[in-house]
Amino acid sequence: MATERTFSILKPDVTARNLTGAVNAVIEEAGLRIVAQRRIRMSDAQAKKFYEVHAERPFYGELVEFMTSGPVVVQVLEGENAVAKYREVMGATNPAQAADGTIRQKFAKSVGENTVHGSDSLENAGIEIKQFFDDKDIVG
Ligand code: GDP
Repeated sequence: MATERTFSILKPDVTARNLTGAVNAVIEEAGLRIVAQRRIRMSDAQAKKFYEVHAERPFYGELVEFMTSGPVVVQVLEGENAVAKYREVMGATNPAQAADGTIRQKFAKSVGENTVHGSDSLENAGIEIKQFFDDKDIVG
């Protein structure tokens, strides 16, 4: 297994409920290292571009609206097998189906307001990280 980096977003339902530290604790307990982190307001254009693969889905408008409804925390996580590891720690997209102990099982409110984003492949992780971070801002 190789050391990888993956891209994470703590969504607006996290910052609204003051859960940044609680979610980060689960991430760190899972052995993932937060090597870059910034709290931002995602612009409408940024959210639309970030989720453009879902542009034809019926929930696209709702998703963009949610992601721009409050501050988010964008992160780079590093660790062994980080992409798959973080997907496991996040849990299923629908929190009703998320395994015990996962972030979405613990904190997510619904399939839309589901607390975290994590890259679904190493290739996408690289693309997503570049949308929000310069190399110099990542301190491994
Ligand atoms: P993920 O990789 O587990 O985040 O899931 P997807 O790539 O399938 O979907 C991206 C994001 O779109 C999810 O994390 C949700 O925030 C949102 N989403 C997915 N399915 C639905 C849905 O049925 N309704 C709504 N409102 N949002 C959804």
